Amino acid sequence: MNTTGVEFRQWCENEAVHWRRKLGLYAYDPLPADRLAAHLHIPLLAPDAIPDFDATMIMALVTTGDSGWSAVTIPVPEHSPIIIYNPSHTAVRHEANLMHELAHLLLGHRPILIQTDLPILRQSYHPEDEEQATYLGGCLQITRPGLDWAIGKEMPREEIARHFGASAEMVQYRLNMTGRHQAPGL
Ligand SMILES: [Zn+2]
Repeated sequence: MNTTGVEFRQWCENEAVHWRRKLGLYAYDPLPADRLAAHLHIPLLAPDAIPDFDATMIMALVTTGDSGWSAVTIPVPEHSPIIIYNPSHTAVRHEANLMHELAHLLLGHRPILIQTDLPILRQSYHPEDEEQATYLGGCLQITRPGLDWAIGKEMPREEIARHFGASAEMVQYRLNMTGRHQAPGL
């Protein structure tokens, strides 16, 4: 699927509404990432919840950006994968991190495993898969009909962000991606 293609984007927009319906939510309702994860039977764990799990192992598992690691999906043989998250991030960043990881899973992305000098493998995704997960993650946080609903209510950007448990930057990203505009002054 082409990341920037209309077809892919439409699929993502539909997916965000689809999972809300499954959970008895309206398109304009917020969807907390932990609720979606529970529905998908994906355990979410902070590193300290894993006995004998060395933090340096997590650091080695993720490709870190400047702001440090956000969350990582660990495949578990014959079980659902688990997501280990960085508990030090803000609530809105945490939501975005988790939705991004869940998006990788919903898209069936397979991480590239990179051999390191540590006794474990380092995990990364193809750049195209990253773009796709970012798009779907944004849709999962804020649906297009949800955005239209909020615009119709003349909600300021910060209020839309609060409603969906997202960052104001994520609201702006979704406005840009969907070609929606808020009334001047909001
Ligand atoms: Zn990713």
